[in-house]
This record gives sequence, structure tokens and C-alpha cells, in this order.
Amino acid sequence: MSEIPLIDFQRVTYTYRQVGTEERVEPALEDLQLQVRAGEYLAVLGHNGSGKSTLARHCNALLTPDSGRVLVTGMDTREQGYQKRIRETVGMIFQQPDNQIIATIVEDDVAWGLAVRGFPAQEIAERVTASLEAVGLAHLRKQSPQRLSGGQRQRLAIASVLALRPRCIIADEATSQLDPLSRQEIVRLLHSLHRAYGLTIIHVTHLLEEVMEAERILVMEQGHILMEGRPEEIFADLERLRALKLVVPESLELAALLRAAGLPLAPGTLSAQAIAREVAS
Ligand code: ADP
Ligand code: MG
Repeated sequence: MSEIPLIDFQRVTYTYRQVGTEERVEPALEDLQLQVRAGEYLAVLGHNGSGKSTLARHCNALLTPDSGRVLVTGMDTREQGYQKRIRETVGMIFQQPDNQIIATIVEDDVAWGLAVRGFPAQEIAERVTASLEAVGLAHLRKQSPQRLSGGQRQRLAIASVLALRPRCIIADEATSQLDPLSRQEIVRLLHSLHRAYGLTIIHVTHLLEEVMEAERILVMEQGHILMEGRPEEIFADLERLRALKLVVPESLELAALLRAAGLPLAPGTLSAQAIAREVAS
């Protein structure tokens, strides 16, 4: 018997309602089919406006379909009675961590979501410690979030979601306000949470360099999934990615040029580091 998907999009269409306009609005998602397997690392790529955030918001019932349905471990997102459990199953991290940070002390922020759900004090203390350790902020637990860097604040937002013990974390452009180094740290953290806890990760971004290690990549355009595959499959057609208004990193150009020149690089050799390792070996 095959396992049921963690998240199951069945022919989902969704159109944002525009008030006071006669214009026909294009659907933000159209007849979309997608199964997210429990434990996978899925990346969702696409240029601005392609429908990534709309897809992400359907995964935890922040939006619900106009037609079709979304099931989270079998629970229909339109059923009011399931929405609380769905949001505990699928946690979300957004672009601006500050919108998610509530308390004035790091550890209180992580505790907050547990306290409002009525967890006992001992359980809250244990989860706060474990979550802060998981994101590397344990040493800053008494700090004010305002004194943290952008990358640290994003890690705090992740810890607060982790404390609820979700099965899936969706990071929606969670790195786009950060400098390149903090960006890499967040991507590494998502991978380490995936490995350490078997968490399902849905990593939403327009940056190709962030998704080279994903298990599966979707490329979106106008509310549709246009491409789907492993990184080496998706990155085999750089022209097509450029046509979809995505910026192709230099390492991918270089790997393509080296292959064209006859160097037998392995298919999964995509990042600058991987190319250097392989060329030097
Ligand atoms: P992405 O996250 O890939 O940038 P979105 O899912 O945010 O894409 O947007 C998909 C489409 O829906 C775009 O055409 C966008 O303009 C439209 N859209 C997004 N949010 C809203 C909204 N709150 N109201 C009206 N239209 C919206
Ligand atoms: Mg978006």
C-alpha cells in the first residue's frame, strides 16, 4: 500500500477577487495537481508573480481553493474543524521574520505559540531549549530579538515554528531580505532540519542557487507547474529557465560550458564548490 501524500493538491484553481473592477482576472493557480511526499525536500521556483506564494498559502489553509481541493494528511483544508491541526502540521516562514516575532525576549517568542495552546510549563521549557538548539540560537535565548541580525531573526522565526513540532515547514522567500552569507546559512539550516528530523521542507524561492541540493524542483509560471524534476534535470535546460525570467547562476553556465567542451562532469555537479572538487580530483 502506498503512503498517502502529506499534501495533496487535486485540480486546484484559485483566483484573487479584485474589488471594483470589471476586468477578468487570471487565476493565480489553475487546475494544479501536486503531491508532496512526507519527508521530501521540495523546491518551488518561479519568477515574481508566478503563483508560488499562492501555492504555499494553500498548503496550510491560509487560502482555500475555488475549485478542486487540498488535503493535508487527508484533511480537507476547507473544513474549518481541521484548520488548526493543518496549521500545526504545516508551519510557514515568511520573507519578513519581524512579522512573526511577537515577544521581547528570544525564548519567550519560541514559548508563545506553545503557551497559547496550553502546553504545560515543563513541556514548553523542553521544547524551547530543543528548538533554539536546533537553529543555533541557544546562547542568545535571553536576548531581545531586536538585537539579533536579520539571519538570526529568521532563525528565531524557524525555532518558533519548530517548537510546535510540525511535519512540514514552508519557507516562502525566507532568505530574500538577507545578505548572501546569512542566506546560505538559512538554506543549510533547512537542509539540516530535513536530515535531522525527517521534516518535509517546501523551499519557495526565485533563486536557482538555493535549490541545487533539493530532492525535487517545481518551476511555476502563471499558476501552472511547467517543469518538475531533480536539480540536474531542471538545470539541463538553461535557455528555458532564462525564458521563464529566472537568473541563471554562473556556476551553472560554467558546468554547461565544461560539459560542452567534453569534460565528463557528473550530472549533479552544479555548484561552484562541486565543480571545483570534481575538476581538482
Ligand atoms: P509569487 O509568490 O510567485 O510572486 P503570487 O502567488 O504572490 O506569486 O502571485 C500570483 C498572482 O496572484 C500574481 O499575478 C499576483 O499579482 C496575484 N496576487 C497575489 N496576491 C494577491 C492579492 N492579495 N490580491 C490580488 N492579487 C494577488
Ligand atoms: Mg511570493
